[in-house]
Amino acid sequence: MPGDYHRSYLRHLPSVERVLQEKILQDSLAEFPRPVVVEAVREVVARKRAQIINTAAEELEELKLSATLLAGEALLAIAEQTARSLRPVINATGVILHTNLGRSPLAPAAVQAVREIGESFSNLELSLQTGRRSTRYEHVELLICRLTGAEAALVVNNNAGAVFLALNTLAAGREVIVSRGELVEVGGAFRIPEVMSGSGARLIEVGATNKCYVKDYRHAVNEHTALLLKVHTSNYKILGFTAAVPVHALVKLAAEYNIPCMEDLGSGVLVDLSRFGLPREPMVQESIAAGVDVVTFSGDKLLGGPQAGIIAGKKKYLQRIRENQLLRALRIDKLTLAALEATLRLYLEEKKALREIPVLRMLTISQEELRGRAEYLARLLADKLPGHIRVTISREKARVGGGSLPLASLPSTQICLETHEENAGLLAAKLRRANPPVIVRVHKNRLLLDLRSIMADEDELLARTLLGVLGSGSGEPQQHETGTKP
Ligand SMILES: *Cc1c(COP(=O)(O)O)cnc(C)c1O
Repeated sequence: MPGDYHRSYLRHLPSVERVLQEKILQDSLAEFPRPVVVEAVREVVARKRAQIINTAAEELEELKLSATLLAGEALLAIAEQTARSLRPVINATGVILHTNLGRSPLAPAAVQAVREIGESFSNLELSLQTGRRSTRYEHVELLICRLTGAEAALVVNNNAGAVFLALNTLAAGREVIVSRGELVEVGGAFRIPEVMSGSGARLIEVGATNKCYVKDYRHAVNEHTALLLKVHTSNYKILGFTAAVPVHALVKLAAEYNIPCMEDLGSGVLVDLSRFGLPREPMVQESIAAGVDVVTFSGDKLLGGPQAGIIAGKKKYLQRIRENQLLRALRIDKLTLAALEATLRLYLEEKKALREIPVLRMLTISQEELRGRAEYLARLLADKLPGHIRVTISREKARVGGGSLPLASLPSTQICLETHEENAGLLAAKLRRANPPVIVRVHKNRLLLDLRSIMADEDELLARTLLGVLGSGSGEPQQHETGTKP
C-alpha cells in the first residue's frame, strides 16, 4: 500500500486529459484515430501509476512524471501499435534465400507488374482476342515453355503444391517409386513421404540411403506403379560412397514400362550458375531435354521470383493435372502471377536476368564490389560511431540458403562491429527493432553484417539505421525533460 510520500507522487501524476493536451499528441490526433491515441495515453499513465506504487520511497525521486514525457512515451506506443506487422527488413545475415526473411526479393519489373495489376482491373481470365473466358495460366504458359523447352506448363501456389497436385493427379491410389536417398524434408512441413501419402499415392522406397541403381527401380515396378519420381536433394548432399540414377536413365526405364517419369527439382534454375563458381545445379531445361514428363520447381528460390510452384512437361500429363479439381485450391493469385510473368520475361535475355533479378545479382556479385562497399561503409561508421564500438572488415563465407545449393559457400565480406560495453546479442536485438529492422549474424560477441545479402541500394539506409541505433550509445530515443517534479 502506498504511504503518504507515494500518495504525493500519485497526486502529481498528470491526468490522461492533461497529457492529451500536449502539443505532440494534439498533432498525432490529426493522424491517428482518437481512441488509439487516448488508449495509448491511458496505458502510459497506468504504467506510471504502477511504477510509482512499486518504487521504494527513497528512489521515487528518480521517476520522471512530466506530461511532456508521458506524451512522448504515448507517441512511441502509438507508433508501435500502428506500425504494419509485415515490413521490409535489411537482410545482413549473408544467407541470400532466407525462408524466414521472405526468400527472394522481387526485381523492379516484377514489383511494377504487381503494382499495376493490383491497382487495376486486368484480363486475368479474359481473352482480349476473342472476348471470351480464358485461363489465368495462359499468361505464363508459353513463356515457361519457351524458357524450358517444355510442351506445356502450369503454375500453382508453391512447389509443395505443385508436387502434391501432380502426384494426386497421376498416382492417387497407386504406387510411386522413389530412391531412399531422395526422401527430402524441406523446412519441416514438407516431407516427400508425407506429401505422397497426403496425395493418395503409395510410396515405394528403393535402394539404400547412399546408393541406388536402375535395377532397384526395375525390381519395384509392377502393375500398380503409376510413376517414377526423382527428387532433387536441394538442401543436402550425400557424399562419399554414393550412386544415384541419372535422370536420363530413369526416363528410359519409365518409357520401357510406359509410365511417366517426374522430377521435383526444388530450386529450379534457368541459368548455369557454375559459370560463377557455384556448384552445378540441375537446370530445368536439362530435365526437360532429358525427356522427364513432369518437372516441378519453386518460383522464389534460385529463380528469384514470387512464391509459386511451376509444373512443366508433356502436354498429355499437364492436361490431366489441369483438370484436377484440386487445382482450384492451389490456385495462383493474380499478384503473384503478375510478378512471376515479369520475372520470367527477364530470363528471355539472360544478361538482363542476371542484372535485374536480386537473387542472381547477389549470387554473382564480385568480391571487389563487395569489398568496395564494405570499405566505404566501414569508414563512414568508424567516423561517426562512438569510440567504444570497433569497426572492422571480415571475410567469412556467405550461404545461399532457402534449401538451395547446400554446400555452396560464397566468398563474402562483412562489416564487423564489436564493443565491450554491450552484449552483441542485445545489440542485435536492438537492430531487429529498428526502423527498418536490420537482421544480423552474431559470432563470438561480434555483430557481422554481410554485404552479399544486402541490396546494393540499401547501403545508405543501413548506415543511417546503424548510426541511429548505435550512435547514441543506447539506441533509446533522447528524452527531454520539460515538466516540473513534485
Ligand atoms: C523447396 C523444395 C520444395 C518446396 O517448395 P516450396 O516452393 O517451398 O513449396 C519441394 N521440393 C524440393 C526438393 C525443394 O527443394
